[in-house]
Amino acid sequence: MDREDAKKLVYKPGNVWLDRGVKENAHEYCRGYRAFIDSAKTEREAVYYAVADAEKHGFVPFERGKTYKPGDRIYYVNRGKGIYLAVIGRQKTETGVRMIIAHTDCPRLDLKQKPLYEDGNLALMKTHYYGGIKKYQWTAQPLSLHGVVYRADGSRVDIRIGEDEDEPVLYITDLMPHIAKDQVAKTLAEGITGEELNLVAGSEPFDAEEGAKLKVLALLNEKYGITEADLITAELSAVPASRSREVGFDRSMICAYGHDDRICAYPAYTALFEAGVPEHTCIAAFADKEEIGSEGVTGLKSDFLKHFLTDLCASDGSDYILCCASSICLSSDVGGAFDPTFASAYDTHNSARVGNGPVVVKYTGARGKSGCSDASAEVVSRITRIFDAAGVIWQCGEYGKVDQGGAGTVAAEVAMLNIDVIDVGVPILSMHSTGELASKGDIYMMYLADRAFYASK
Ligand code: MN
Ligand code: MN
Repeated sequence: MDREDAKKLVYKPGNVWLDRGVKENAHEYCRGYRAFIDSAKTEREAVYYAVADAEKHGFVPFERGKTYKPGDRIYYVNRGKGIYLAVIGRQKTETGVRMIIAHTDCPRLDLKQKPLYEDGNLALMKTHYYGGIKKYQWTAQPLSLHGVVYRADGSRVDIRIGEDEDEPVLYITDLMPHIAKDQVAKTLAEGITGEELNLVAGSEPFDAEEGAKLKVLALLNEKYGITEADLITAELSAVPASRSREVGFDRSMICAYGHDDRICAYPAYTALFEAGVPEHTCIAAFADKEEIGSEGVTGLKSDFLKHFLTDLCASDGSDYILCCASSICLSSDVGGAFDPTFASAYDTHNSARVGNGPVVVKYTGARGKSGCSDASAEVVSRITRIFDAAGVIWQCGEYGKVDQGGAGTVAAEVAMLNIDVIDVGVPILSMHSTGELASKGDIYMMYLADRAFYASK
């Protein structure tokens, strides 16, 4: 073998920006993505957005017991926090579905049940963080508040404040460096503690006798008709009030809160819109509670997915067991991209790079692959051949060095249903920070990968 032939044996992933069509289409595609991510900052808002978008594209609520024909478009919402969208295929459900699951919950600061108190002339709100965050990142920046409150009479009020420029925001203080001798000597993990993540909610006293807490309660009552007791049952979350921004002189990247994992949810459902009349039934799903281990009725550990597939099978007389055994699923969650500034945390030889397309991850998990679903060689080969045949640029990649830690995804829960599953997602930088970074080209390529997957035989 001569040297030229030998060189062809070497594996080298492509760069998305050098691929035909990406430069022309990625910017336009990401305009839609940015509208989604700027509007949908919680899992509930992601579901509202997807329902509105899906209805425009001909999707209707799924009806149990109804018979559907190939090409029919349905959706199924789980408690306002998760959604399953499907396009019915030509083949029966028991021949297997093509399913892509992403999650739309993100790390954030939930309000405690009794959040409001007063100190130092300030009205403050206690928070309890949700998901894996670096707490120090959440101080000294504008935060918006999102969620639902139920009044004593059972009526519901949706709260979303701090997103528009003329709306007020909330704010968490940090200690000035001038007197932070003790604080700066702490480790990064302890520099800001959970109990220090207190939201400043006001400072004007109610009157000469009553302070800022009562003033805030009066304002909340005037605007939303709620009382302090109503906050006990509420679900309210503080998230960065910032909008997505283009990054780089070339505008090739997007900085935004919550790429993980709306950056995979958006390609999954927009690719489904293009599915036409597929051979096999295609499903895009938004899962909740992934960031805390997929627990609870809206997480993937609940039987909701099993029940949805059972209902889908019932609608065309399919066998559920056969359906699971012949289905295939992409657990579409973000991958960690190699960060040259923190190179020592990575195995550079096995890390994904921004710009080399979606990351196909055979196994996630921490340390000794703990908590992962290790996809078989058969599944990895099948998926990557689908991508190669469609000209999709993809790469492989692990999170970081084996002993540095790791992460799990919903793949483990899907595998428990006897459904073949593999992780494929967009590589990002600064994961779980208040402003994550991703390449527009990778987002667009994820969409092309999802389209190829839905069309696969
Ligand atoms: Mn994720
Ligand atoms: Mn995550």
